[in-house]
Amino acid sequence: MKLASYWHDTAAPFTGATPGPIGGRVDVAVVGGGFTGLSAALALAKRGASVALLEADHVGAGASGRNGGQCNNGFFQDFATMEARFGFGRAVALYRAFDDAVDTVERIVAEEGIDCDFGRTGKLKLAAKPEHYDKLARARDALHRGADPDVRLVPRDALGDELGSGGFHGGLLYPKSGSMHMGRYVVGLAEAAVRRGARIHEQAPVRRLKRIGRTDAHDVETARGTLRAGQVLLATGPSMSGPFFRYRRRIVPIGSFIVVTEPLPRATLDALMPRRRMCTTTQTVGHYFRATPDDRLLFGGRARFALSSATSDAKSGRILEAGMLKVFPGLAGTRLDWCWGGIVDMTQDRLPRAGQHDGLYYSMGYSGHGTQMATHMGQAMAAVMAGDRDANPWGGMPWPAIRGHFGPPWFLPLVGAWYKLQDRLH
Ligand SMILES: Cc1cc2nc3c(=O)[nH]c(=O)nc-3n(C[C@H](O)[C@H](O)[C@H](O)COP(=O)(O)OP(=O)(O)OC[C@H]3O[C@@H](n4cnc5c(N)ncnc54)[C@H](O)[C@@H]3O)c2cc1C
Repeated sequence: MKLASYWHDTAAPFTGATPGPIGGRVDVAVVGGGFTGLSAALALAKRGASVALLEADHVGAGASGRNGGQCNNGFFQDFATMEARFGFGRAVALYRAFDDAVDTVERIVAEEGIDCDFGRTGKLKLAAKPEHYDKLARARDALHRGADPDVRLVPRDALGDELGSGGFHGGLLYPKSGSMHMGRYVVGLAEAAVRRGARIHEQAPVRRLKRIGRTDAHDVETARGTLRAGQVLLATGPSMSGPFFRYRRRIVPIGSFIVVTEPLPRATLDALMPRRRMCTTTQTVGHYFRATPDDRLLFGGRARFALSSATSDAKSGRILEAGMLKVFPGLAGTRLDWCWGGIVDMTQDRLPRAGQHDGLYYSMGYSGHGTQMATHMGQAMAAVMAGDRDANPWGGMPWPAIRGHFGPPWFLPLVGAWYKLQDRLH
């Protein structure tokens, strides 16, 4: 079992980075080479701005190259919860922002000719307990009142058409959701940004930002030199390094882990996942799984409340294998070829945050629902930076610091224990 991301290993590497020292002036510096940063760099360059993207490691090194491969619409939260908080109109608008985000990915893939197996496979949210199915039925009713007439219930006795597992009590199907090969997508985005004129600097961690007076301009100091940028976008996800203390106090970095099996016979996969849906389960500490383009099963979940590292990934892999065999007992004896972990940029209410603070633009906090929203927000923030404030669907949301949180998430084991207790009780 290789402790690396399947997405990285099965995509051609990005070779378009600009080598050498970093300096001079640009209209915009984008910090972070994941979906947010790359999508923003692409949109900004298309608008005619000079753009330098600064990535501490390589493009896709963060969550964008290490995720579960699902490109879903829909909230993590119940629509009714969102409606109670925001009112019907705004809740619908925010829900639709996820629909728009999947559309944005589909559009960019088509416009830029990115070969990443994008498809509208649909997402199936699976009820882990009988009472969870009743909750899904209430969610369907709430969504049918105006946000999404397309979602539909799959009762337990019809689930066999969707899934070769007896472990669930029905599901809720979101037909607009999609999937893609995340490694090929992230490289394709980077290549498109370079083709449109953006410069991408890898191995260029940003160490310091110095604002020029009261303007939006900053001197951006990297390990390879300093450049002056008229505007700066922080697209750094759950960054643990660099001058981003304000954001570290508002984002909890939470590990999520994934295993990928050896290739399965086509007939086996047809029996387990006949429609190749993107699957998630209803527990708070639940699982997500899908088939890969080369007929493997990708199976992920929180596994442990630990950050990703070589030892913690291997341990999490063993926990996930046990989870996978509970869902698909017939896979006993199947070899696992990959296991890796990544860090989710979780906000307290599990909703993204984007805007401008102290002259810096930012977009982050997708809380595990970001393959589509990060892409969408890259485009949206490019529009915001060009003067269209209304382009940001998350604008105006308060974002206080999390009390007692100063960077390292010392409280994770407590949160994990609490979530697991909730899953046992409800
Ligand atoms: C294991 C896992 C599974 C997931 N599964 C799904 C899924 O199936 N579907 C879904 O929608 N979402 C999923 N997500 C979430 C999704 O992948 C993210 O929301 C999305 O990729 C965020 O993109 P980003 O560009 O904002 O951040 P990232 O991809 O994390 O990029 C941030 C980049 O900033 C760089 N950086 C940080 N600090 C600095 C610095 N000082 N200087 C320069 N660069 C810096 C990092 O190296 C990194 O490359 C998952 C996440 C994880 C971890």
